[in-house]
Amino acid sequence: MIELSVVIPVFNEEKNISTIYNRCISVANAISDYFEIIFVNDGSKDDSFQLIHQLAKQDSRVKYISLSRNFGHQIAVSAGLDICAGNYAVIIDADLQDPPEIINDLYTKAKEGFDVVYAKRNTRKGETLFKTITAKFFYRILTKITSINIPLDTGDFRIISRKVIEVLKQMPEQQKFLRGQIAWVGFNQASVSYNRDERADGKSGYTIRKMVRLAFDGITSFSNLPLRIATIAGFLVSGITFCVAMYALYARFISRDYVPGWTSIIISVLFIGGVQLITIGIIGEYISRISSNVRNRPLYVISDTNIDYSKVNEKSSQ
Ligand code: UDP
Ligand code: MG
Repeated sequence: MIELSVVIPVFNEEKNISTIYNRCISVANAISDYFEIIFVNDGSKDDSFQLIHQLAKQDSRVKYISLSRNFGHQIAVSAGLDICAGNYAVIIDADLQDPPEIINDLYTKAKEGFDVVYAKRNTRKGETLFKTITAKFFYRILTKITSINIPLDTGDFRIISRKVIEVLKQMPEQQKFLRGQIAWVGFNQASVSYNRDERADGKSGYTIRKMVRLAFDGITSFSNLPLRIATIAGFLVSGITFCVAMYALYARFISRDYVPGWTSIIISVLFIGGVQLITIGIIGEYISRISSNVRNRPLYVISDTNIDYSKVNEKSSQ
């Protein structure tokens, strides 16, 4: 029986692999003799996979799955959680921004009877001002417009219990926003604070495009408010348009004070056009997500692994 699984998503992290491995091993050793370290290679283009493979040969506690291409951080983590065997799983970045030593605090707290213990960042070192500000702004908006309580200033660095892992496995949506899903699951949740370090080496795999995508997935997965705003905006604009129409009729037939009004026409046409496009765009965001879920494709494709899948399936069917 495995007590602790450490899930590490890896995308072009060749310079960090051996450090994260060593630091995780020494922390996990102090916690239990029965642990595993799961590297999920998310389509790295550098030598990350060769290094992981090498580690797995030397150390049987190292497990890996290699995805057939880059599926993105959230899906890589989900893949790791799907196959982990531990009573507890820790999700940690490979770039050492989340100090592995904190795992000890997370585990101790979890043992006090919490199913989710997330690591809350006191400070974030070495992040661009842009990233810090957009993240702050986004999470504050997100908590306002969703009904679930997503903790502020946390990433995915956290420990979750087997109970939570099993629920997550039943949440098959294509748009993964683990922070939201884990908050949605409920149970006893707690936090420990830490100071987020700078990325040890290499560069961030989160491009602006991936960040925007994550933000949209987070909102559309947990809130229908944007759709409601579209409806409200529709009514509002119709109301205004109705008043303007009344005035136009009044000017034409009663006061007979009508100058051919190019300005008002062009403004109202542009305004209504804009609102319509925004509304259609919002609806489109939701529809594209519905259609990708209806296609029912697997969330990821595994190209290589040292995990015995017959055992994993046996376990989950028990
Ligand atoms: N990552 C991944 N797939 C991606 C992008 C990132 O598996 O498409 C991994 C990456 O190797 C790291 C973690 O996710 O372990 C966090 O990514 P990163 O440090 O690049 O993001 P940032 O800290 O800049 O938000
Ligand atoms: Mg990072």
